[in-house]
Amino acid sequence: MHEFSITDSMLKQVLALAEQHSARKVTSIRLIVGQEAGVVPDCVRFYFDTMKQGTAAEEAVLEFRTEPLRLRCPKCGAEFEGIEDMCRCNAGAEIISGREIVIESIEVD
Ligand SMILES: [Zn+2]
Repeated sequence: MHEFSITDSMLKQVLALAEQHSARKVTSIRLIVGQEAGVVPDCVRFYFDTMKQGTAAEEAVLEFRTEPLRLRCPKCGAEFEGIEDMCRCNAGAEIISGREIVIESIEVD
């Protein structure tokens, strides 16, 4: 169900972008999926194949790029990809990316 609503809003954004560019059809969609987003690409693909029918994105190819979890120390600003390479401030960490699904780019015709 999680992927269903994600795919739905992703497709709406893609179609809105295509409309802004007066495109007839969308040929390719590149998505960045955060490692910790809790999204299964195959699941998104499955919903997308159903939802795209009859839209400008009907023939679009869906591509995924996985992005690792990136963290930042709120004290010194150091960035790291995992708990292993954290700085020594012991100030906790804020998540910069890796928890979301983002449209990297689309190609239109
Ligand atoms: Zn630090």
